[in-house]
Amino acid sequence: MTTDFYNLLLTDCALALILLGLFWYVSRVSRGVPGIASWGVGHFLYSLGAAMLDGTALELERAGAHGASPVVAAIGGILACGGLAVIAGAMVMFAGQRALRGGERLALAGVVLLSPLAWLAGDAIDGQGAAMSAAELAMLATVLVQLWRLDAPPARVPARLMMLGAVVLAFLYGRDLLDAFTGQYTSNQAWVNVDLSTWYLFNFCMLMLTSFRAAEALRQTAMLDPLTGTLNRRGLFARLDPELERLTRDAQLAVIALDLDHFKRVNDRHGHEVGDLVLQKLSDTVRDCVREDDVFARVGGEEFLVVVTGPDAAGAPLLAERIRKAVAEMRLDPPAPTVRVTVSAGVCLSARPMPLSMLMRGADEALYAAKRGGRDCVVANTL
Ligand code: GH3
Ligand code: MG
Ligand code: MG
Repeated sequence: MTTDFYNLLLTDCALALILLGLFWYVSRVSRGVPGIASWGVGHFLYSLGAAMLDGTALELERAGAHGASPVVAAIGGILACGGLAVIAGAMVMFAGQRALRGGERLALAGVVLLSPLAWLAGDAIDGQGAAMSAAELAMLATVLVQLWRLDAPPARVPARLMMLGAVVLAFLYGRDLLDAFTGQYTSNQAWVNVDLSTWYLFNFCMLMLTSFRAAEALRQTAMLDPLTGTLNRRGLFARLDPELERLTRDAQLAVIALDLDHFKRVNDRHGHEVGDLVLQKLSDTVRDCVREDDVFARVGGEEFLVVVTGPDAAGAPLLAERIRKAVAEMRLDPPAPTVRVTVSAGVCLSARPMPLSMLMRGADEALYAAKRGGRDCVVANTL
């Protein structure tokens, strides 16, 4: 073994330790994107274990230290298999944005067990080499399956790059596994640079994917109204955007504008906090009335919009009436005071293709007509 190769393994471990700190830091600032801290831990354990097995144990064997070599190989093997299991688990958590399930934990424990099982083999280095190579292949299979799910931009490019890297590594580790079974396991100095470079690529891509994830979470938050949890005006247009052209062309849009009646009085009589509770209750009530495909948003203080999409758009006046009735029957949960509120609704339907902005204006005009007509009623018009 050359000094250069040994230095390379040591440098790799030092870098893995720095990356461990970096991944932990990224996990904290990205408000706990699941899996990224575990990825750092798994990568460090694996790097350390692989360096002990492929570097120290083989070197001791060559130097004739036949007592120490199997011990170092065994410690290296268990660290590497443990690290690889943690990496695979981290990828499942990261791609699914969730904690691991019972069955998945069990499968990963099985990957760690490969190392103690290998003690039964005659030769420690070949046995641990086979265990680590098999664990590497299991980890790569998991990574490939999980990355396949990240197929939307911007995550797709780094995910596909990592998949390419995983295929390259699968060839290298597959060859290692064959070598171990034929009693020829040894450190592969010829392609170690390809191996380590691919891991650098993995780590860069994971950092990139995490920053995308964190930005996406912020983007989602920016589209929600913090008081009621409904979409805000920006969220409304973002939700409609992908389908808006088709819906406009097919005249499958209707807009319901809702505005609480005399809401200022509620605030004046019961206080702003009770007013806030009314707005939250109103949002829950409307959400219970609309379908999943309808888009519901808070577009002003006590003003809300429902955009009814698809063939059901023609039924928007009936939906508005259902909402009006539900709001009139609405009660705040105890111990909040009993407050009765009503809502006025303006509905605008389209008889021909027309832009959403025109329908929104039409719904606003209908809403003012409802207010002028005495409130707690629905006025509909067709453009
Ligand atoms: P109208 O029937 O004509 O709609 O009368 P109104 O009193 O509801 O209408 P107006 O526009 O005069 O008053 C709206 C009130 O909504 C004024 C404001 O204090 C209240 N409001 C707006 N946003 C919030 C909020 O986030 N929380 C609370 N509690 N009140 C809000
Ligand atoms: Mg009002
Ligand atoms: Mg208003």
